[in-house]
Amino acid sequence: MADAKLIDGKAFAGGLRQKVGAGVADFVAKGGPKPGLATVLVGADPASQVYVRSKGRLAVELGMASFDHQLPEDTTQAELLELIGRLNADPSVNGILVQLPLPKHLDTAQVLIAIDPAKDVDGFHPVNVGRLGSIAPGAPLDFPVPCTPLGVSMLLQDALGSLSGLNAVIVGRSNLVGRPVAQLLLRADCTVTITHSRTRDLPGICRQADILVVAIGKTEFVKGDWIKPGAAVIDVGINRIPTPEGKSRLVGDVAFAEAQKVAGYITPVPGGVGPMTVACLMFNTFQAARHKAGLAMTAA
Ligand code: NDP
Repeated sequence: MADAKLIDGKAFAGGLRQKVGAGVADFVAKGGPKPGLATVLVGADPASQVYVRSKGRLAVELGMASFDHQLPEDTTQAELLELIGRLNADPSVNGILVQLPLPKHLDTAQVLIAIDPAKDVDGFHPVNVGRLGSIAPGAPLDFPVPCTPLGVSMLLQDALGSLSGLNAVIVGRSNLVGRPVAQLLLRADCTVTITHSRTRDLPGICRQADILVVAIGKTEFVKGDWIKPGAAVIDVGINRIPTPEGKSRLVGDVAFAEAQKVAGYITPVPGGVGPMTVACLMFNTFQAARHKAGLAMTAA
C-alpha cells in the first residue's frame, strides 16, 4: 500500500489567511469598519508573550486592528474584569482573546464568562459551548467555534469532502479539543466515539475509525497497527522531545512513520493542525466583524 497522503495544514492555513485578508480588504473597501482583535495577557510568561505578539502581528498583516493589553502578574480579578468590560463596550473591538493559562490567583471560568459571547473568538464562553453542543446536523456555524477544532474540521472536509456516515474516533475529551471536535464531526454526520484515559481496548476502538483524531499530549502514543488501512489521521498533539544533538524537536501523539504506512491521509507535526489554530482565530475575528455588520457568518 502506498504511503498516506500528507494533509498540509501549513499550506491550507496560508490559503485561509489569504482569504481572510482579501475578505477584510473587501469589507473595509465597502465601508465596513476595520475588524479589531484585542489580546489580553496577564503576567510575563515568555512563551505566552510570543504567542500573543504573533496573533496581534498577524491580525495587522491581514488588515485588522490589534489592541494588545499586557497586565502585570499581580493583576486582580476585579481589574481584569474591568478591562474585559471595557473591551466588551468598545465598538472597535470585534474579538477578545484572553491568553490562557491565567495566573493561579485568577478565576478563569469567571473571566471567560465575562466576555461578550459575540466577541468570544476562542469559542470558550458557555453560551457558545452550548450552541455547539446543541447544533443540528449541517446547521450553519453562525457563532464562534474553538479555533483548533474548527481547523481540524476544515482540514478533514478539504481532504475527504463529505464526512457523512464515516466512523470518527476522537482520542482525548478536553473542552479545548476533543469535545468540540466531536460536536463538529457529529454536525458533519459522522458516527462519533470519544475516548479517554479510562477507555478499554483503545487500540481496538481506533482500528474501527475512518477518521482518527488524536489530542492527548503523549509522544507517539498511537501506533501504526491501531490504524485502519486508508483512515484519515489528524494528530493534534504537540510534544517537544530532546534530540541527540542536545536540541529539541516537535512530535505528535501519533507514531508518524508507522502510521503513514497504513493511513490514507495524515497530518504531520509540525505543519499539520498547528498552523490552523491561529488562522482560524483570524477567521473568527473577521466573522465576528461581519456578523456585527449584519452579514451572514460562513464558517466552514
Ligand atoms: P488535555 O491534557 O486537556 O487533555 C488530554 C486528554 O487526553 C484527556 O481527555 C485525557 O483523558 C486524554 N488522555 C490522556 N492520556 C490518555 C491515554 N493514555 N489514553 C487515552 N486518552 C488519554 O490536553 P488538550 O486537549 O489541551 O491537548 C492535547 C494535545 O493537543 C496536547 O499535546 C496539546 O499541546 C495539543 N494542542 C495542540 C493545539 C494546536 O494548535 N495544534 C491546540 C491545543 C492543544 P482524561 O480526560 O481521562 O484525563
